[in-house]
Amino acid sequence: MIPKLNIAIVGCGPGGLAAALFLKRQDHDVTIFEQFSKPLPVGSGLLIQPSGQAILEMLGLLDSIRSLASPVYHLHGISVEQNRRALDMQYSNTKEGTSALGIHRASLFSVLLQAVEKAGVPIVVNSKLVSVEERGSLITPIFERGAAGAPFDLLIDASGARSPLADGKVKRLDYGAFWATVDMPETHAIVPDALDQRYYRASQMAGIMPVGLNPATGKPGAAIFWSEKPENAKRFMSLGIDEFRRSYCSLWPEAKPFVSQLTSMEELTMAVYGHRTGRPSPIDRLIHVGDSWHCTSPQLGQGANMALIDAAALAMALEQSSSLSEATRAYRKLRAMHIRLYQMLSVVFTPLYQSDGVIKPWIRDMIIHHFARLPIIRRFIASTVSGSLALKIR
Ligand SMILES: Cc1cc2nc3c(=O)[nH]c(=O)nc-3n(C[C@H](O)[C@H](O)[C@H](O)COP(=O)(O)OP(=O)(O)OC[C@H]3O[C@@H](n4cnc5c(N)ncnc54)[C@H](O)[C@@H]3O)c2cc1C
Repeated sequence: MIPKLNIAIVGCGPGGLAAALFLKRQDHDVTIFEQFSKPLPVGSGLLIQPSGQAILEMLGLLDSIRSLASPVYHLHGISVEQNRRALDMQYSNTKEGTSALGIHRASLFSVLLQAVEKAGVPIVVNSKLVSVEERGSLITPIFERGAAGAPFDLLIDASGARSPLADGKVKRLDYGAFWATVDMPETHAIVPDALDQRYYRASQMAGIMPVGLNPATGKPGAAIFWSEKPENAKRFMSLGIDEFRRSYCSLWPEAKPFVSQLTSMEELTMAVYGHRTGRPSPIDRLIHVGDSWHCTSPQLGQGANMALIDAAALAMALEQSSSLSEATRAYRKLRAMHIRLYQMLSVVFTPLYQSDGVIKPWIRDMIIHHFARLPIIRRFIASTVSGSLALKIR
C-alpha cells in the first residue's frame, strides 16, 4: 500500500465526497475545496443504480440512502403517436434482481456530506479552482483567490463537467430539460414505483420519477421533467405556468395531479446536457473523478453512479499500489472500459429519446416494442441500465 498522502479534492459532488470518504478511511490526509460559500446540491432527482448502490454499501451509507429514497422497479415509456412502449425495463431482469433508488439530490448530498463531516474531512469553501502548478513531487491547486496554503501529494479533480482542468471541451447536446420536484399525489394513474415517460417522437418528452423524501415538504416526492432545447428556454419560461401545464397534460393527461401542483415557472430549473470523454490526465498527481473525466446526458441515469464508482476504483488502486504512478495506471485500467462503453451507449441511446426528426424515434419504437420482449435483449437492457456492463469493481 502507498504511504500516507496529503490529498486535495476539488468539488463537493457525489464523486468528491465519496472519494474523500474512501481515502480518509485509508488514513490519508484529505481536504476538500468547493467553489460555493456553502456546499449544496444542484437539481432535482436522480436514480442510484445497483452499481452505485454497491459503492454506497461499501461506504456503509446504503441504509441511510434507502430510508430517504423510493425503490424504482421499472423504467417505462410510451410513444404517444404510435401508442407503443418505447421504454420498458424491469430491474427484476438485472443480475442483482433488485431496483434502482429514486432520490432527491439534496438527500444523496446530505448523507454523503454528513459522513464526510463525521469523518473529520475539512471543507474549504469559496475556493474556485482555476489551474494547478506542479513542482517536483508536489502539486498546488490555484484558486481564484490565489494558491492553496501548502502543496499536496495528489490533487483529485471532482469539479464536474465544467472543470477547468478537464481534457477537451464539453459538446453541448441539442436537448436539455426543465426539472421540478413536487409531492407524490395520494392517487394517480401513472405506473407505480416506476420512472415513467411519454414521448411525441423524440422532440417532446415528459417524465415523472419517485424521489423518496421531498426535502421541501417532508412528504414523499416526485421529480417531473420536460425535454426542451436550451435556446428555447427563455421563450419557454415566458409562456407561463398555465401553458406549461397545458402542454404537459396534452402529451400526458394522467400527469395532471403532478403538474397541477406547480404554481410558477420559477419552480422549474433548466438542466443543460453535455457530453465529453476526456483523456485521463498525463500528470500522475492529478486524477479526474466523475463528470470532470466523463460527462453525458442523463438518459441512461449513470452519471452520479459513475462518479461513485470512480471514487471506489481510485481507493482500490491506491490500496493495491506501492507508488502513485502505479496507482494512476491501475485506476485508469480499472475504469477505462466501463467509461468508454457507457459513453458510447449514451451517444447511441440519447438521440432515440431526445432529438429532432422521425427516423430515430421510429427505430426506437420498433426495436423496444418488438425486440425488448426477447429474454436476451431484456437482460442486455437491464444490465446496461443497472450500470454493471464491463464493471470491474464489485
Ligand atoms: C438533470 C440531470 C439528471 C441526472 N440524472 C441522473 C441519474 O438519474 N442518475 C445518475 O447517476 N446521474 C444523473 N445525472 C448526472 C449526475 O448528476 C452527474 O453525473 C454527477 O452529479 C457527477 O458528479 P460529480 O461529483 O462528478 O460532479 P458534480 O455533481 O457536478 O459536482 C461538482 C462539484 O464541484 C464544484 N465545482 C465546480 N467547479 C468548481 C471549481 N472550478 N472549483 C471548485 N469547485 C468546483 C461544484 O460546485 C460541485 O459541488 C443527472 C444530471 C442531470 C443534469
